[in-house]
Amino acid sequence: MILALESSCDETAVALFDPARGMIGEWIHSQIALHEKHGGVVPDLATREHLRNFPPLLVSARAHDGFSSVTEVAVTQGPGLAACLAIGVAAAKALALGLRVPVVGVNHLRAHIFSPFIKLHAEDPAKFTSVFQGRLPHLGLVVSGGNTLLLELNADLQIRILSTTRDDAAGEALDKGAKLLGLGYPGGPLVEKLALTGDPRAFDFPRGMGGRDILDFSFSGLKTSLRYCLEKMAVPEVQARLPDICASYQQAVIDALMRKMKFAFERAAYASIGLSGGVANNSRLRSAMAALSLRKRIPLYLAEPRHTGDNAGMIAFAAWLDRTGVDRASGLVMEIDPDATPENSATDPAQV
Ligand code: AMP
Ligand code: MG
Repeated sequence: MILALESSCDETAVALFDPARGMIGEWIHSQIALHEKHGGVVPDLATREHLRNFPPLLVSARAHDGFSSVTEVAVTQGPGLAACLAIGVAAAKALALGLRVPVVGVNHLRAHIFSPFIKLHAEDPAKFTSVFQGRLPHLGLVVSGGNTLLLELNADLQIRILSTTRDDAAGEALDKGAKLLGLGYPGGPLVEKLALTGDPRAFDFPRGMGGRDILDFSFSGLKTSLRYCLEKMAVPEVQARLPDICASYQQAVIDALMRKMKFAFERAAYASIGLSGGVANNSRLRSAMAALSLRKRIPLYLAEPRHTGDNAGMIAFAAWLDRTGVDRASGLVMEIDPDATPENSATDPAQV
């Protein structure tokens, strides 16, 4: 059984995962309410909250069987807020020393990349490895508040990043757009809610950069275009047309993402597609991915809502997949022993 800890940003999370049975339990404390009034995550506050929240979450998890079945502790090693990561790593090392089991550092983005497959594992743990192998090569899209990644998971289980964003992440574009509209934080869900009754063709916003030769994303032009659009409108008109503006803005983000997915298919063939990260909660984006999967006649793996945002379940799952011998050579994973610090590690999370 793997005991996993996650504290890279504003979620404190603990999970227990048994490879033979699936996810045994997940405990999470979100700090959204705390950071909301500041319009974004305040690192010092987040660090303090992790210190405060790990003990009760761990006590709840320990109630399971006193941690007697834990054979490994996994912890998010990075990328993330340095002081927040340090709290998780310190807690994981202490637990591992106390339980006399190894501790393993997990790359947070790698965990997001694998998270759509947690559900597949839960459906039949015994058959997972063979079914999973049949779904490769896999084209994955990780869309969160801090990252936008288009990636390939190869048949030999190596990850190749095909593209990232050159400026804002997809979630950041939605958050910044929402801020311009005075909607609050995080903006993605608020934009989605207003967009439900709006017309996605009402406003013409740009769909990212470049043609089929460029897979990189860019969202800063979209945000600027919204600002110019709002400057030309009177406040009552903006208020009256909020649903149309939100629907059009959201559609521009989705179209920009789907366009690059389409271009990736022009370069290679894939046996499955996947979607993860906080923006994967967006139902219109999920529908667009479902339509692509139908057109390509390949399965779609969507991270379940509890595994889209930051969570410890995906950290445990990635630690397990890596323990099965996956992708050791890629440099995106490494083991840490209780005496080593992540700063001494050979893996630079910033490379991902
Ligand atoms: P993460 O960075 O993975 O914690 O995810 C947070 C990001 O996901 C923020 O930018 C949110 O605005 C975005 N997000 C969350 N839910 C939705 C949604 N339903 N639609 C669009 N974006 C969302
Ligand atoms: Mg994350």
